[in-house]
Amino acid sequence: MSDHKPGGVADAGGDGELEAVIGLEIHVQLATRTKMFCGCELSFGEPPNTRTCPVCLGLPGSLPVANARAVHLGLMIGLALGSELAPRSIFHRKNYFYPDLPKGYQITQYDEPLCRGGELGDVRIHRVHLEEDAAKLIHAGASGRIHGSDTSFVDFNRGGTPLAEIVTEPDLRAPEQASEWLKLLRTTLRQLGVSDVNMEEGSLRCDANISLRPRGSETLGVKTELKNMNSFRFIERGIRAEIARQEEILAGGGQVVQETLHFDPASGSITSLRSKEEAHDYRYFPEPDLVPVAIDDGMLAAARADMSELPADRAERLQRELGLSVDSAQVLAFRTELGDYFEAAVAARAEPAPPAQGLANWIAGDLVGRLPEGQDPSDSRVEPRALAALVGLVAERRVSVGAARQVLDRLIEGGGSEPLAIIEAEGLGAMDGGSELAEIVAAAVAANTDAAERVREGNAKAIGPIVGQVMRETKGRADGTEVARLIHEQLGA
Ligand code: ADP
Ligand code: MG
Ligand code: ZN
Repeated sequence: MSDHKPGGVADAGGDGELEAVIGLEIHVQLATRTKMFCGCELSFGEPPNTRTCPVCLGLPGSLPVANARAVHLGLMIGLALGSELAPRSIFHRKNYFYPDLPKGYQITQYDEPLCRGGELGDVRIHRVHLEEDAAKLIHAGASGRIHGSDTSFVDFNRGGTPLAEIVTEPDLRAPEQASEWLKLLRTTLRQLGVSDVNMEEGSLRCDANISLRPRGSETLGVKTELKNMNSFRFIERGIRAEIARQEEILAGGGQVVQETLHFDPASGSITSLRSKEEAHDYRYFPEPDLVPVAIDDGMLAAARADMSELPADRAERLQRELGLSVDSAQVLAFRTELGDYFEAAVAARAEPAPPAQGLANWIAGDLVGRLPEGQDPSDSRVEPRALAALVGLVAERRVSVGAARQVLDRLIEGGGSEPLAIIEAEGLGAMDGGSELAEIVAAAVAANTDAAERVREGNAKAIGPIVGQVMRETKGRADGTEVARLIHEQLGA
């Protein structure tokens, strides 16, 4: 993907074209039962401040204990990304003051993270570390006025929720590429089962770091950071808007200032949250209340044992074992629900057996296209075995593609496991190309004299109206190739 064109980046004058450079920081809420450093259960919409204890409220004298399950899930992420897993990693305190941070510091990992390096698709991973989430501020505005001032409330239920932060190298070059890659990451994390990866609910949040540089340059430009975007569309739009903003600054001879920005999806505007802080502003120091995380063979084996097949591996297997095209294999592997349906259909041992590629095409094409937007095939009435048998019948030319689509419509409406029964009951079976079909073709040729004349003169495309009539007459049961052959035969063309 090295030839990606950065969206919206034009010639800045002078030395030539600019190139966008993008690196992502992704916060993933881990699917543990309890919080990162205490025994409080994770909160899913409970009344505010009902899932708290002295540790996650930051009361003096309370002591944190690292959540073993969070470490386990962090290791699974590291293994999936091909990271180097640190035999020993430690937690640091990142100090800053904010109302959603009762201790005055966040416990995170700094220079000795759990995982380093790795890659996913064509993007290198810089690191993966564990940390705790902040609490939630609820801005009540005028409705919660106290002493004449607008009020904000703090809900500490979320405070202390375990997060894995995944940091990429600056390998992305375009807004669409960034959102596509993030989709791959989300599918991978979902398949791993380490998070529910629900973006609307904030289980997956993304910061995008963006800079521009002259194309061909090796040095990085000054970057800005777009904070906390929680939908693929906003990420794409936000990055595009920020590229345009930087481009305008540079075109006017100005310099980009390193800062943290907020993209407002409603207005499309970008505003500054704060000028960029440096690491030393946070007075990082090792958390004295926690022992280092020491990974042993047992923990690694447990993490490995918990990993199911990942999308990239599944795509490779579908190509290798079933001979699917690269594109089909990726569609099925990256859309887990389609891959599962496909494999169920293959495993159903339907009669007649469908070719794998044909089955993949019918699932990703006709079936998905006919189901209501967003419905999983497995939630439809079409049994994998029934679709497999139908595709098998198409492959054996016992039903035409057009008629098979009608059968599929019946299966979607009424379910059932026997497409052959539907074909027989509705008379949708392929015509055997015998005299009946030849007669219908002859009638269609006779009724379309203009088209017939042009086909005779060698214009193969003119065949359309004649085929159309045959298909109407036969209700789509005739085999298209056979019809074309008969037309040409009868016209001597
Ligand atoms: P910070 O210390 O500001 O958080 P890091 O070096 O840790 O910066 O990088 C944070 C993220 O920003 C990473 O995803 C990294 O790939 C990306 N990044 C770093 N420098 C640039 C740059 N000049 N342009 C675009 N992205 C960058
Ligand atoms: Mg950062
Ligand atoms: Zn707690």
